[in-house]
Amino acid sequence: MLSFENTEIAFRYKSNGDLSRARMLFSAIASPGLVTVGKTLTYFALKMHLPIAWAIKPTLYKHFVGGETLAECEKTVMLLSNYKVKSILDYSVEGGKDQESMQRTMEETIKSVINAARHPEIPFSVFKPTAFASQEVLTLASENGEMTAETANAIQFFKDCVEKLSRTAFENDIPIMIDAEDSWYQPFVDEVVTVMMEKYNKEKAIVYNTLQMYRTDRLDFLKDSLRKAEEGNYFLGIKFVRGAYMEKERLRASEKGYASPIQPDKDATDKNYDAGLAFTLDHLDRISVFNGSHNENSNRLLTELIDKHGLARNEPKIWFSQLYGMSDHISFNLADEGYNVTKYIPYGPVRNILPYLIRRAEENTSIAGQTGRELALLEQERIRRKKN
Ligand SMILES: Cc1cc2nc3c(=O)[nH]c(=O)nc-3n(C[C@H](O)[C@H](O)[C@H](O)COP(=O)(O)OP(=O)(O)OC[C@H]3O[C@@H](n4cnc5c(N)ncnc54)[C@H](O)[C@@H]3O)c2cc1C
Repeated sequence: MLSFENTEIAFRYKSNGDLSRARMLFSAIASPGLVTVGKTLTYFALKMHLPIAWAIKPTLYKHFVGGETLAECEKTVMLLSNYKVKSILDYSVEGGKDQESMQRTMEETIKSVINAARHPEIPFSVFKPTAFASQEVLTLASENGEMTAETANAIQFFKDCVEKLSRTAFENDIPIMIDAEDSWYQPFVDEVVTVMMEKYNKEKAIVYNTLQMYRTDRLDFLKDSLRKAEEGNYFLGIKFVRGAYMEKERLRASEKGYASPIQPDKDATDKNYDAGLAFTLDHLDRISVFNGSHNENSNRLLTELIDKHGLARNEPKIWFSQLYGMSDHISFNLADEGYNVTKYIPYGPVRNILPYLIRRAEENTSIAGQTGRELALLEQERIRRKKN
């Protein structure tokens, strides 16, 4: 059975200094009180335009982010590649506001697609829907509500961005993934992404949609997507994640009085996730799969499914991925065993990356066992190095 316990493999890219910084960081974010206070202070500082980079950059940012620019990420990309772990550089700007900043994000994202296509260590490109439209606009489009000319323009801008990015990915032969965010504007994102798949996935999966398996409807959606792909004779690219916005989803559902779209408990999410993986492996002739998870069982399950189907460990249609700064024990042990592994590395200016960093801090506080696991592994490696 595949083991994720080998901390020498997991952390060999980290110096002793990196290791102790990581331990300090995870100890700090293990405290919910500290994270809540930190979050409030950070939003206050942002609102007041106070400088915050000095506090964030050497700590959270250094641990979870590749740098401010593509060029700054290069060192990390090459470091990981020494251990057969590839990289995905994600220009992490979310919550698109004014047209000008969205246009700048678009230009940077195009650069990241081309950079990936030219770089042997970067096998995918990626973007977030809210980089190119506000949540309000995407929600209106999803609800087919009444629209002003301004909203219609914003929707067209979003469609044009997705089309341009997908076409650039296709022309440069590099897969592109579209992240998933909140369920209430996902219908429109799904619609646009499906059109891109029909257009650009005729020979193989270039465009990937993201399925958040904490949603109760996603397994049916997956089956329906496969049916459409078979009818339309194109390939599906699916990035599986559990989903990062559970609390927000439940809160909105209860405030607005509709049934929560989220699985009732963690166990149900886990089962749904694993069912999605199993379904995909049964249909690998038409689906390519990207497993974005820090869950040891789901990662192990995928390795078992690879065996069960008699596939090579480095089957090109199957990728594993974890976020940079998390679950190195999974990424580096899988890569060492010959599986296709990437780290998702966000990059961008400190201010723009803050929502991502706050999510990582909260996630590592709220998920039972997650921080404990990171800390225990880091400690285990410290002791091992001391003995040698
Ligand atoms: C490479 C990569 C890309 C990602 N991209 C996206 C993205 O595009 N969109 C996105 O939303 N997230 C994304 N995420 C984050 C992801 O959705 C999860 O939040 C995160 O990875 C934790 O889930 P896990 O599978 O790693 O494992 P675990 O730690 O085992 O699972 C935690 C997750 O389980 C679910 N869960 C926890 N408690 C409950 C409960 N009581 N009831 C129901 N469900 C519960 C939640 O989804 C929670 O995040 C990405 C993660 C990775 C690694």
